[in-house]
Formats: sequence, structure tokens, C-alpha cells
Amino acid sequence: MHSARRLTVAVVFLLSLHHANSQAPEAEPHLVVLRAAKMLDVRAQKIVPNAVVIVEGDKIKQVGSGIAVPAGAKVIDLGNATLLPGLVDVHTHLLQNYDFALGGDDNNMVLTVAQMSPAERALLGAKMGREDLEAGITTVRDVGNSGVNGDVALRDAINHGWVSGPRIVASTRALSAAGGQFGHLQHDAQALVAQEYVEIATVDDARRAVQHAMYDGADCIKVIVNTGPRVVSLDEMKAIVEEAHHVHKKVAAHAIGNDATRIAAEAGVDSIEHAYIVPDEVLKMMAVKKIFLVPTDYPEELYASFIPATATAEERKEMETGMKQFAAGNRDRLKRAVAAGVPIAAGSDEYYQMGKRTRGQSSTLIYESYRDSGMAPWQIIQAATVNGAELVGWPDQIGAIEAGKYADIVATAGDPLQDVTELEKVKFVMKGGKVVRDDFGSGKPGHDNR
Ligand SMILES: [Zn+2]
Repeated sequence: MHSARRLTVAVVFLLSLHHANSQAPEAEPHLVVLRAAKMLDVRAQKIVPNAVVIVEGDKIKQVGSGIAVPAGAKVIDLGNATLLPGLVDVHTHLLQNYDFALGGDDNNMVLTVAQMSPAERALLGAKMGREDLEAGITTVRDVGNSGVNGDVALRDAINHGWVSGPRIVASTRALSAAGGQFGHLQHDAQALVAQEYVEIATVDDARRAVQHAMYDGADCIKVIVNTGPRVVSLDEMKAIVEEAHHVHKKVAAHAIGNDATRIAAEAGVDSIEHAYIVPDEVLKMMAVKKIFLVPTDYPEELYASFIPATATAEERKEMETGMKQFAAGNRDRLKRAVAAGVPIAAGSDEYYQMGKRTRGQSSTLIYESYRDSGMAPWQIIQAATVNGAELVGWPDQIGAIEAGKYADIVATAGDPLQDVTELEKVKFVMKGGKVVRDDFGSGKPGHDNR
């Protein structure tokens, strides 16, 4: 009785093993196929008609025009849509969302750093990251203003699948001269600076700061080369670049003006952020050394919305004039940069709440400013995809719809080559083979999008 029962248990166990083996999901990987009328081959600047993208797990297996759909694959037919790679924003601050009503950067920075813990900021970053992803931004390089390593926590949470967000290249705290980017602080309040920046005063400080960033989990280094009259020296910059490149990490340099941009370019950083003021000779150096310009520009009309409601008519007029000049200056320097052959990577530098827009909706407005500066649609799309991928150090993994890369793919209803604002209203988002957004409803049975 006893042994017969044992035998029964053993047989049932073996049968269940057999059953499990015959159903093993590893034996037949699940394939998803995206179909659309057009796909942008962003590297070759070519339109691929009748596009078929075969996705296996989180990667792209095969891409082509009218290639055969494997039997048993799940087909997502996007009809007349245009497929393009997921967007890359190389300059984000996901753990920061300032309020215009508080009166500019200085007030906002003090309140954010003094009142919000890195944990609270990471949760804010989770919201901002989700909003970016839903807008089609599948990878960001987050360049500081994250408290102490909040960006690393958010990156890891997204990678673990705890929250939905873009792939994050994290910088940890930005390196800077005294005071970081804070406005004037009383002596006893200056302890706030270390919550947001690592201050550099010597070459040794610079080396130690990079090494410590690596220990903290940084994927790249961000340096504030200048803030007002406070400047990181050329020797310190060279030490930062040497230490970072030694461990194959890239350096993003916030630099504005003739001296700071020259220091950054001479030191051999990988990208210069903003560079609202930059001389032609520095642009030439950037082109030769293949240093990216990250033009964190917004369309002229948008700057007017930055004017606080409390401004008098006279103040408003003065600010409007200043913003017009600022926008015109930005367009001029982007034109000069493109003409000089400087590689461009798209970066939003978005960190304010812009009305009711989500973070993703406001971050994608930069493409309009690039258009207004004379960049061609293909150039803008490359800046937001392949160029971004190269700058963040993942050229083989993201930035193009190619076999072997992550299946980070977005789709627009209209043609972004005709109208770049299509990139502001992406209708379909896939990250790592998972559908994040599908306004077409294409995955639903019986749906016909054609
Ligand atoms: Zn920034």
C-alpha cells in the first residue's frame, strides 16, 4: 500500500515533468512582428517601405521591406504609420521639476535640495521617466541634479522592472567649482551644495571626484565648467577627462561663453552642453575632435511662457525682448555649429513644469527649435537617435532599428520628415520588445489599421 502510493506519486511527478518539458517556453521563443507602411533607416537616411521588424525577446532579430512573417509570431500591424528608433534625450534632469511661480533656478534649487530627500526625488524621477517613455523617449542621459545618487537608484529600479521608464545613463552628482549652480547661500546653508554637487578646487579633487562617481555607480561624468565667474580650470578638466576615459566613461560639460567652451574642448570632453555663446574657433576644435554639441534650445514662442504672471507690463516687455535675443542667438550658434561640422545630439535640459504638459511632451519641443535653426528633418532625427546613442556610449545597442539592437521602436501617424512636430505626438512606443503605448490599438484582435 505504502510503496504503491509512492509509485503513483513518482509517476505523476514524471508525467508532470514531461508535460512541463513539452511546454517549455525556451524551446520556442516568442516572436513579435511590427508592420508599418514606412520605416526610417536613420543611419542611411532612407525610407524603407512596407516595413517588417521581427522582435525576439527584448532584441530586434530581423528588419526589412516585405520580409516573411514567421509562423506563430504575434503581428502588430501599425498600418500607415512610420516606424523610427526610440528617441534618445542626452540631457535630462528627471529628479527635478521646478515651478516657475517660485521665481527661477536659485529659489527652486534651495527648496528642492533642502526639502526633498533623494528617495522622494527618485519617486518624482519615476513619474518624469514614465512620462518621457510614454512620449517615445526610450533612453536618457541624466546629467545631475538628482541629490546624492538618486539617479542611480532610479536607473536600477527601471532596470529591475520595478517602475516603467527609459534606459538611464546616470551621472551621479555633477562636478563643479565652488557653490555648484546655487545662487548665494548663507555660510551655514552652504552645506546644501554637497547634496547636489561635488566641488572641485584642485587637480587631485578632480581625480578623486571621478573615482568616487565610479564608486557611486556613475555611467558618465557631468561637469559644470562655469557658473558666473566660477570656473573649473583647464588642468582640472584635463584630469577629469583622463580619469573618466581611463575607465571608458564619457564626460558631459556644461559650458557657456568663450573661455568655458574652450576649456571644455581643449580638455577633450565628449559633449558640450548648451554653449549658448561659443566662438567659431571652439566649434572648429569640436568638429575636429568630434565633440558633440548638445543644443538645449526651445522654440522662441515657448520662452515667453517662462515669464512669471506677477511681472509688470514693463518687466514683461523687457523679458520678451531678452528672450527673443536669446533664441536668435541660439539659432545662430546652432547654424554655425552645423556648418562647421560639429556633431549634434538632442538634449532637452527640461526641468520645469511647463503648464499641463507631461515631461515627455515638453522635452520633445526641442526638435522645433532645431528646425527653426535650419537643421533638416533627417539631421534632427539623427541627432535624436543614432547620434544620441553614440554619445551615451551605446551605439551597438540603441539608436537604430537594426538586427541585434534593443527593440526600442516608436511610430508616428504622420511623416516626421515632412513635419518634425510628429515627434511630439508619438502614437506607439516599444521599449525592449514590450509595448508601452499603442494609440492605434493595433495589438487588439480584429483591428484593421489600414
Ligand atoms: Zn542641464
